[in-house]
Amino acid sequence: MANSPRPLVAGNWKMNGLKASLVELSAMAKAYDAALHSKVDLLICPPSLWIAPAVSQLAGSALAIGAQDCHFLPQGAHTGDISALMIKDAGASHVIVGHSERRTDHGETSALVKSKAEAVNAAGLVAIVCVGETQAERQAGRANEVVGEQLQHSIPADGKAKTLVIAYEPVWAIGTGLTPTAADVADMHGFIRQTCERLLPGQGQGLALLYGGSVKAQNAAELMQVANVNGALVGGASLKASDFMAIADVYR
Ligand code: PEP
Repeated sequence: MANSPRPLVAGNWKMNGLKASLVELSAMAKAYDAALHSKVDLLICPPSLWIAPAVSQLAGSALAIGAQDCHFLPQGAHTGDISALMIKDAGASHVIVGHSERRTDHGETSALVKSKAEAVNAAGLVAIVCVGETQAERQAGRANEVVGEQLQHSIPADGKAKTLVIAYEPVWAIGTGLTPTAADVADMHGFIRQTCERLLPGQGQGLALLYGGSVKAQNAAELMQVANVNGALVGGASLKASDFMAIADVYR
């Protein structure tokens, strides 16, 4: 299908990894051969400090480097922040926005997430917008309502399938070892696909929809074959090349 999204397996290192950890990227790049590259895009989002060194270390490799967050403005008096423009200048291609840890730890609203996603797109980069419900919201039968609201207010009004990725990450599955059933993932991803098509007419079918939350080698094959799952956003299992590449190899 011409419109069918190309799979993406993205790693989010969060606040993990010292300079020595960059060796894992070289191991990933080595294992990311042409056969695998023909099937799936691979991306690692290290701490922002390591973006530029990672990009130069990976010169010539198809393994892409991204950022975990950015400010919504291109520059200015915002101590400690980095802009999408700076991330692009450092050689990265993607920026994660609206991760649940940012929404919780930094009180980020969907309106702020949207302005960040717009800044990412304005800089010419791909925005990975994260959405997901808490355990209490799921138990209350509100998962679709919560995710629908987040999508409506977090994605750029003129979002395009080429420069926007949605990551569904149930908050209760992140770093816990818990995962939803394949049926629950199918239901939610179908709902996200429909909602995105309504919000972005003509773009929704082509958007890559990632599942995130305790993805590892042991469950990746089952999760990645679910309808409307076009890849994964991986936290803990992206820190080691062997773990990350075992997930990516599902697409081989
Ligand atoms: C994440 O935080 O994006 C994530 C999916 O983490 P983990 O894979 O460790 O659950």
